[in-house]
Amino acid sequence: MTRTAQVVVIGGGQAGLAAGYHLRRLGLEFVNLDARTEPGGAWQHTWDSLHLFSPAAYSSLPGRLMPPQTGEEHPDAAHVVAYLREYEKRYELPVRRPVRALGVYRDGGLLRVETDSGTWHGRAVISATGTWRPFLPAVPGGGDFAGQQLHTVEYRRPQDFAGRRVIVVGGGNSGAQIAADLAYDTELTWVARRPPRFLADDVDGRALFGAATARRRALDRGGTDTGGVAALGDIVAVEPVREARDRGLLKASPMFARLVPGGVEWADGTRAEADAVIWCTGFRPALSHLAPLRLRGRRGHIATAGTRAVDEPRLHLLGYGDWTGPASATLIGVGRPAREAACAIAGLLA
Ligand code: FAD
Repeated sequence: MTRTAQVVVIGGGQAGLAAGYHLRRLGLEFVNLDARTEPGGAWQHTWDSLHLFSPAAYSSLPGRLMPPQTGEEHPDAAHVVAYLREYEKRYELPVRRPVRALGVYRDGGLLRVETDSGTWHGRAVISATGTWRPFLPAVPGGGDFAGQQLHTVEYRRPQDFAGRRVIVVGGGNSGAQIAADLAYDTELTWVARRPPRFLADDVDGRALFGAATARRRALDRGGTDTGGVAALGDIVAVEPVREARDRGLLKASPMFARLVPGGVEWADGTRAEADAVIWCTGFRPALSHLAPLRLRGRRGHIATAGTRAVDEPRLHLLGYGDWTGPASATLIGVGRPAREAACAIAGLLA
């Protein structure tokens, strides 16, 4: 079956919903296609203890403040899912689930979106499919290790590893938070490519949003690169991380050289035995549905001017990180680029 909409938004997580909010305000006709069966995007699949790194009011989408969570200054992921579910309902956003976009094609004056349940044609497409795609580095001996290997996206709770020897790889937020989660009940080894850089204890998502915005403004003015969030550090010292760090439980070792059947081995021959290795090594944008447009350039990104794809003006990319708008991969940061994308599309279609 073939259907049409002025704008096809691919993704029904926070970025897709923010796009829908602004498209609706501008009177454009659109549909959101979302591969998951339930509202909430990637927030449905995080580990149990994950809390936002900002208070609720600083984690809000356009038009609706996130209500505070009773007893928690920093809401948990379940609270975010409930908020997104309610947001979608409140604004009667036309999200179709589960519908997975398989490929986007140029088709005369339209863009054609092939999905696992039919074809959509749109005069414009907003891709808002998130970054919940695991990245695993190639490390020698990966196939030799006899224990369990998993990525951040598969980790749920420390009880699953109680009493076991666990190696957590990665010096970013996921690595630090999962290491802190495991620090009490497992025999933990935390490894990172470089010494972990904790942000000052009073720096949370509010300051990060400010730093990302200031960087973008400086670059847009042709000024010098302030370094943005990366210049401040890598790890937000959320409460559980702070607590484990202050108890001396979060000491990172350098990255090992290879995996061996019973664990890992450093370049000098030192070994650590392990039952499980958890790879907290990051995520990549989910862009494979855009491959037919042949737009991918450096580092797998698509060249953009703001949110618009430089070589396909009918396509906008939303929520993938600073390259699609400052702090666009955050709840509070996605509103502005969503508005810009909707306004640009309204102009294009006028
Ligand atoms: P997603 O939530 O991933 O939503 C994308 C949707 O698109 C999904 O439902 C997916 O199923 C769907 N989709 C994907 N491919 C297709 C396809 N081909 N066809 C149809 N649908 C598709 N941000 C904050 O503001 N505060 C925080 O504290 C914070 N903590 C974070 C902690 C972690 C561990 C991570 C990984 C991220 C965190 N973020 C945080 C960043 C960000 O807010 C989240 O990653 C958020 O989920 C991104 O929203 P999104 O809508 O861009 O993507």
